[in-house]
Amino acid sequence: PINDSLGHRIGDDILVQTANRLRSALPKQELLARFGGDEFVAVLSHLDHRDQVLTLVEHLLNQFHEPYRIEDIEVSLSATVGIADSGLPFHHPMELIQRADVAMYEAKHRGGGAWQWFSHAMDEGMQLQVEMRAFIHDAINQQQFELFYQPIINQKEEIVAVEALIRWQHPQRGFISPAEFIPLAERSGQIIAISDWVLERACGDRARLKELGIPTISVNFSPIQFYRDDFIDKIKAAVENFAIKPGEIVIEITENVLVRDSEQIQWQLEQLQELGFSIAIDDFGTGFASLRYLGTLPVNILKIDRSFVQNIDHNQRNAAIARGVLAMTSELGIKAVAEGVETDAEHEYLRKHDCALMQGFKFCKPQPLDKLADWVKE
Ligand code: C2E
Ligand code: CA
Ligand code: CA
Ligand code: CA
Repeated sequence: PINDSLGHRIGDDILVQTANRLRSALPKQELLARFGGDEFVAVLSHLDHRDQVLTLVEHLLNQFHEPYRIEDIEVSLSATVGIADSGLPFHHPMELIQRADVAMYEAKHRGGGAWQWFSHAMDEGMQLQVEMRAFIHDAINQQQFELFYQPIINQKEEIVAVEALIRWQHPQRGFISPAEFIPLAERSGQIIAISDWVLERACGDRARLKELGIPTISVNFSPIQFYRDDFIDKIKAAVENFAIKPGEIVIEITENVLVRDSEQIQWQLEQLQELGFSIAIDDFGTGFASLRYLGTLPVNILKIDRSFVQNIDHNQRNAAIARGVLAMTSELGIKAVAEGVETDAEHEYLRKHDCALMQGFKFCKPQPLDKLADWVKE
């Protein structure tokens, strides 16, 4: 169990320790690099046979048998490995990494400790990734994105905010869900361009939303954005350009942001809050953040993930978790939003347990701005 006293450094410690373990398990002459959040790439240029590679891969995986000790806590991790063989023809070295990546995702389906060679049977997965990247590239250039808005309501069913949610209507493929393309864009770096677009559009729509009497707008931010030095300057510039008060913008981040590089994150969040922005923790309960964070981090809003809201009226486990979160937020003076409220029964249950804010299909689906305006005027 991850205990509160671990503080903020756990994610960093684990990454550093992992890098050290992998480094010491690899022959000196082979290259090891960190690749994205928790992925590493090893380039094995001194091995000739598959058997040698597999022996080394097993050796690497064995490095995870020993639990990590961080302060007085034991943490167990597992890893999966994807392997691409330079014996298969390729056009560009990047292709090798992509193949290893696709193979790793295959291995992941079989759980921790698994490894998988890339084979042409996986070409389709690979093709899909490459194609998707090209699609996203076009979508950015040809402005195929739209921004929808979903109301967040209080107990009197007044709109206190809207959440901005991106939509992508591809000319041939039709609607592509953000749940599908955002993770891909995060891995390709295209998320930065997408996020810039979202922020710009949200700020551009702010005036109309204000006319509709909607006090704040909630915007989703990807963890990747927090790793960029210009992150805060960009948000500042955006609100200044559109003459928006920071207090009218809520920055939604998932709790996993809090687990990594947290000293820097804490500093960034403090900066943002000092500027007047509100911070919401999205999908609360699905990640690894320890409750301790909430006491120390500048957080204004907790969004209880839909998975805990579903059937809350008759799922006792969900109900217990949600009540716990509500009690905690009220004690900490943080606002709670229940996400994904779909039924009258869920709504009623949450109301009875003093959940002040809710969002979900029960009230309104995400809509384009014009439709939202109609809904508000009804
Ligand atoms: P999220 O931030 O948790 O957004 C809430 C999701 O729940 C939205 O899905 C919304 O349409 C859906 N939802 C709201 N009420 C209900 C309900 O009552 N029932 C059900 N079944 N679903 C409901 P959506 O729009 O498909 O977005 C999925 C995820 O994609 C978002 O989850 C967010 O993580 C990401 N995303 C969407 N727009 C953006 C964006 O502009 N930037 C970034 N970085 N991520 C985004
Ligand atoms: Ca969100
Ligand atoms: Ca959410
Ligand atoms: Ca989500």
